[in-house]
Amino acid sequence: MLTRDKMRSTTRSFEKYYNPELHGEIRMDTNTNVLGNNPAASAALRDLDIDINGYPNTYSDGLRDALAELYGLERDNFVVGSGSDEMLDVSFKTFTEWGDTCVSPVPSYTLYNYFIELNGGKAVNVDLDEDFQLDVDAMLAPKGKVMIMPSPNNPTGNTFRTKDLEEILVRTDGIVIIDEAYGEYAKESMISKVNEFDNLIVLRTFSKAYAMAGLRVGYAVAGRSVAEMMTCVKIPYSLNMVSEIAATAAVKDQEFIRKSVEMVNEQRPYLDAGLRKLGFETFHSDSNFIMARSPIDHAELVSGLKRKGVMIRDFGAKRRTENCIRTTIGTKELNDIMLEKMAEVIQGC
Ligand SMILES: *Cc1c(COP(=O)(O)O)cnc(C)c1O
Repeated sequence: MLTRDKMRSTTRSFEKYYNPELHGEIRMDTNTNVLGNNPAASAALRDLDIDINGYPNTYSDGLRDALAELYGLERDNFVVGSGSDEMLDVSFKTFTEWGDTCVSPVPSYTLYNYFIELNGGKAVNVDLDEDFQLDVDAMLAPKGKVMIMPSPNNPTGNTFRTKDLEEILVRTDGIVIIDEAYGEYAKESMISKVNEFDNLIVLRTFSKAYAMAGLRVGYAVAGRSVAEMMTCVKIPYSLNMVSEIAATAAVKDQEFIRKSVEMVNEQRPYLDAGLRKLGFETFHSDSNFIMARSPIDHAELVSGLKRKGVMIRDFGAKRRTENCIRTTIGTKELNDIMLEKMAEVIQGC
């Protein structure tokens, strides 16, 4: 048996990622699109007639051109790869030196510390305020070489104030990564500002609103200088040909995204009211999920629901989200099923 001291020192404490056992449950735990497969991407996959013997385009120019047109930017403002998780990895690989301090807020996405430490950085986590908004001075105090925050934030659901993000961008010498994994659902985005702030990186994904998590496509948007640096560091050909074709088709057909956002906007107040009626304390969401504090023990709620065939995500054992769960906002039918099962679990308690 090999022991962990054989591992790179910065990775010895790592544990496996969320990997639940599945028995055909309704998945309200991953914030993917509840309307199902992206139709334009599916159609492109059905019609595939490609030369898989050749390499894909080195930097996925077809997809980058489609994104440039969507946002009114240039191809060279984009770096695409295998999920926004690869773009996170590339960002830290490009900008952090061994031992550099990197700052992220708490509570937020748990994978940030993993990517920071994997790349030799020192993760410093700074508390959000009572309303889960950024404490700008506290975020700047550790003088991070890289700062990273999701907006809308996961798991809390709210966006951060644009003026706070801009203040951080102006006052730091470091790189600032805004992870807009749920950006399609939010009212504001930093993408239009990548040519204004040369230390800004915005991350987006095809895993959530685009309903393509299985194809692993994500992208970074940045000023041309930062985008070029990241392009030089990224593993060439990391985005495969099949995924690039599907993603390009999806970008060119925005109707599904519009419909998905409209559905979420309609169902958000409905689910929020339903949760409150059951005794949950709910938190403001600008995304396709809601965080809520459970009226019964979080672990009992989550495991009881799983036995009834519905999965939600448990954040109840973590500081600042004590006894909280996170659930994806479903269609009316899905929300009704979940609320009914929740009521049964709570009554049985
Ligand atoms: C889901 C999610 C991602 C997506 O990662 P992919 O690698 O693109 O699937 C990134 N950041 C946050 C905050 C997320 O919730």
